[in-house]
Amino acid sequence: MIRMVGVDKFFGPLHVLKGVDLEVPKGQVVVVLGPSGSGKSTLCRTINRLEPINSGSIEVDGQPLPAEGKDLARLRADVGMVFQSFNLFAHKSIVENVSLAPVKVRKVAASQARKEAMELLERVGIANQAEKFPAQLSGGQQQRAAIARALAMRPKVMLFDEPTSALDPEMVQEVLDVMTTLAKEGMTMLVVTHEMGFARKAADRVIFMADGEVVEDSTPEAFFSAPKSNRAKDFLGKIL
Ligand code: ADP
Ligand code: MG
Repeated sequence: MIRMVGVDKFFGPLHVLKGVDLEVPKGQVVVVLGPSGSGKSTLCRTINRLEPINSGSIEVDGQPLPAEGKDLARLRADVGMVFQSFNLFAHKSIVENVSLAPVKVRKVAASQARKEAMELLERVGIANQAEKFPAQLSGGQQQRAAIARALAMRPKVMLFDEPTSALDPEMVQEVLDVMTTLAKEGMTMLVVTHEMGFARKAADRVIFMADGEVVEDSTPEAFFSAPKSNRAKDFLGKIL
């Protein structure tokens, strides 16, 4: 579903992704770990082309990433992304937040989009918040709305970049529960997170990044019980 081959990304002189190779088969859940500044967010952002790459190639579902135009809109629909900051439209209700893009991009009729949006809000457990504005919801509810909004585009892949890092501790689990359900339903997911419980339980694979490189690529069991590199040992020593 995702194939990255020899991907290099520079910010000016800064070499942020260094020849990254990564394949994620359909239905797999991959957790990306690594210290701050190792390139995890940039990796996510290259996959839906929020960041262009300098060399190498990226395919999503067998299609090379388009550079621009209509094809780019289709890619963005195929690759859902959820950020640390929920990025909901502040002046739109929750149900409008979820139904807006399907109407605009997928050309779904407004009534149908609303119906689908309500079903998604039901799935993430906040149907009763549908008519409220984002600021009236808790952080955990807002992030679940953001997940519903991404799912409304019927993506083939979901990217999560530290989706629980901005939440109060008591709201982390409700968001992880939604993500775990999504994983069990077979969604292909790339998840940057510091939630080790989620990595152990929901991940098929753990990728450890350091300095723009994929340093380890293994099962959660292997990674947590016997990390191979000193950088991973050092990282785990600091967070566990
Ligand atoms: P992570 O998500 O692992 O913390 P990032 O992908 O955000 O790492 O950043 C990797 C490196 O790229 C860092 O050194 C960061 O400062 C730098 N970087 C990220 N975005 C930009 C940008 N838009 N312009 C310049 N440098 C950036
Ligand atoms: Mg980041």
